[in-house]
Amino acid sequence: MSDLSELYQEVIMDHNRRPRNFKPLVGASCSLEGFNPLCGDRIILDLKLEGDTIADIGFQGSGCAISKASASLMTDSIKGKNVEAADEMFEAFRDMLTKGDAAHVDADKLGDLEVLAGVAQFPTRIKCAILAWHTLHAALHGRREAISAE
Ligand code: ZN
Repeated sequence: MSDLSELYQEVIMDHNRRPRNFKPLVGASCSLEGFNPLCGDRIILDLKLEGDTIADIGFQGSGCAISKASASLMTDSIKGKNVEAADEMFEAFRDMLTKGDAAHVDADKLGDLEVLAGVAQFPTRIKCAILAWHTLHAALHGRREAISAE
């Protein structure tokens, strides 16, 4: 294991142990639940929108370390961004995981999310990492019924 992937592991474990924005959001504009039946990961995402800006975000739920760390990293990354920027991050993140090579890692758009690049090597865990993002994307685009990441 390289030094870099050890560093990445530490960041992921830290977000799993101390998830950021892990709270219900008072006065949320919308809430959406996402579920990954393959692993049992469940997330409830609360968003507070001001115009098309994500003014605040909180999440709750339970799941594996990857799903929790990914949700925590996501909330840190998109707070204060507008919907268009969040969509671009979602696409960059999905490409990083599903295309699975360095050529598809857009470091400028991904920022800290790049610590999850290694998940691309574990196809069964990709749904864990992407659950929070699918839930966010669906919530931002008007979905109000729970989603299932199948
Ligand atoms: Zn999982």
